[in-house]
Amino acid sequence: MFATRIDRARARMESDGVDALLLSVGSDLPYFCGYEAMPLERITMLVVPREGDATLVVPELEVPRVEERPDIFSIQGWGETQDPIALIAELAGPASTAAVGDHMWAGFLVDLTSAMPSTSFRRASTITSPIRSVKDLAEVERLRAASAAVDRIAARLQAGEIALVGKTEAAVSAELSRQIIDEGHQRVNFAIVAAGENAASPHHHAGDRVIRSGEGVLCDFGGTMIGDDGIGYCSDITRCVWTDGRPDREFLEAYAVLHEAQAEGVRSASVGTPAQDVDRATRRKIVAGGFGSYFIHRTGHGIGVEAHEDPYIVEGNTTPLKHGNAFSIEPGIYIPGKWGMRLEDIMVASDAGPDPLNTVDHQLAVLG
Ligand code: ZN
Ligand code: ZN
Ligand code: ZN
Repeated sequence: MFATRIDRARARMESDGVDALLLSVGSDLPYFCGYEAMPLERITMLVVPREGDATLVVPELEVPRVEERPDIFSIQGWGETQDPIALIAELAGPASTAAVGDHMWAGFLVDLTSAMPSTSFRRASTITSPIRSVKDLAEVERLRAASAAVDRIAARLQAGEIALVGKTEAAVSAELSRQIIDEGHQRVNFAIVAAGENAASPHHHAGDRVIRSGEGVLCDFGGTMIGDDGIGYCSDITRCVWTDGRPDREFLEAYAVLHEAQAEGVRSASVGTPAQDVDRATRRKIVAGGFGSYFIHRTGHGIGVEAHEDPYIVEGNTTPLKHGNAFSIEPGIYIPGKWGMRLEDIMVASDAGPDPLNTVDHQLAVLG
């Protein structure tokens, strides 16, 4: 699998005129070689020359953590007194163009530019993103398993099995985080809990606000499920509940609009449809419902080894969806000072039609 991925990267390097691919911290590295670098001041770098063997340059003390894959790369440990930048420059060879991982530390790039003065650098995402954004069957199943795990948590939330009223947002966020791990993720990526007026801020940070009876609560949570191969796949879901009693009319009306918009987004996301048309489809519904100016973000983002990656479901992205693209459909309506709501599923564009990975109930759960 890793060999196939590296071959694909090499084919793109060939067509893009890139002589060396340099991958450090971030998700490209585990995706292409099964090893995730610790974000340390000591540099780790997979050096992939267009021709010739790949080398994983890694701090000597990290070498024991690297699973050897001699068919993919050789391992070169560097000691505390060695210069890893010089080593990387040597392995990259006389590259006129090198592509560096987007999440590589700026400090390392500054050092590399001095060590490789005749090389021009560009982002590696132009090579890695088109490969990573098309999921094969096994990857879709990994994403489906992660989605099913958060679906089970959402179902408990909707059934009133996660205590809300009288708890702080932070306490509920901690409980969701605990359940994310219990359900088989190794990492919690976020657990947004936003009550009442706080939900009007899409990325509200859960705080001391105590959740009250008779208000909306937005929960957006997800994590990373890491497999035996060292690669993790992400989950991401948003559901809203009303804590007690009858929701007010405006909230119910808005939720009905949101629900329809989200379903329309999923329906419209077929293979060949430009990504921006999916954003337009959800937005059209929300505009028609009279809440257009309160839908203040794009419709969605791709997901895979990273929680946010290509393809972005946003106006201006004219790239047609491909079979195997996985992304969120997450329209929202946010009325400052009053309330907010979002409904989010992960789905896959497939030749067989839109394939939603989150299937837990989409209605507003009224508890009490
Ligand atoms: Zn978000
Ligand atoms: Zn989310
Ligand atoms: Zn999301």
